[in-house]
Amino acid sequence: MLKLENWSKSFNQNTVLNNINLEVPTGNVLSIIGSSGSGKSTLLRTVNFLEPADQGIIQIGTTTKDVAEINQQEILALRRQTAMVFQNYALFSKKTALENVMENLLMVKRMTLSEAKPIAEHYLEIVGMKDRMNYYPNKLSGGQQQRVGIARALAIEPEVILFDEPTSALDPELVGGILDLIMKVAHEKTTMLLVTHEMNFAKQVSDHVIFLDKGNIAEEGTPTQIFDHPQNERTRQFIRGFD
Ligand code: ADP
Ligand code: MG
Repeated sequence: MLKLENWSKSFNQNTVLNNINLEVPTGNVLSIIGSSGSGKSTLLRTVNFLEPADQGIIQIGTTTKDVAEINQQEILALRRQTAMVFQNYALFSKKTALENVMENLLMVKRMTLSEAKPIAEHYLEIVGMKDRMNYYPNKLSGGQQQRVGIARALAIEPEVILFDEPTSALDPELVGGILDLIMKVAHEKTTMLLVTHEMNFAKQVSDHVIFLDKGNIAEEGTPTQIFDHPQNERTRQFIRGFD
């Protein structure tokens, strides 16, 4: 599970996350929606410690830490519990699909090559990329690169997977295949935070939805509450924009 308490982040004078409180029980999918600049990516990036949060308490699995007191070793330990899937895939261009998936197993999980390889192959098979595991990213379509990105996240078997607009960079005809794959991952009872503009998909896959507005949770609830019966005027405007 993942829990954040009073989670805040500013860049200079700009408050990007303002005392966020949220909880994602094990196996649940939390979707985060909101306009561009509302703080969605910053929320995921601070949970993954790609950026330090300024304030707050984070719980991942059984570990709880206050960011005011956390040390580098504890950050590394928490980072091993989450995996990001990026909008632009963020694969290493000089590594094959297989090497990309093995990278964190070797570097973060400190496995040997012979330990990492079968695990990486297993997850490449799950995402439908085993037959192309020796391809370099520039020989793969966007959809295929994102499949590798998802395999890379799955392979470290993290407590939580963080998806940041995983289909936004894809050609329209490739979006459905990736959404199907994310749905499959969700059905495996993976705990997920999903930032997406695919409202119909978010409605289907989510257990809970948060509408972020200028770094504040303006409204949250079940998919039906948020998508069909939004109460907050800004949520309404936002949802209406996708009709
Ligand atoms: P979203 O993902 O919802 O579009 P972001 O989390 O990327 O929003 O950005 C939220 C706000 O934080 C924006 O105003 C953005 O300009 C600002 N921001 C994000 N990252 C940085 C950074 N590294 N330095 C300064 N400002 C940033
Ligand atoms: Mg973003």
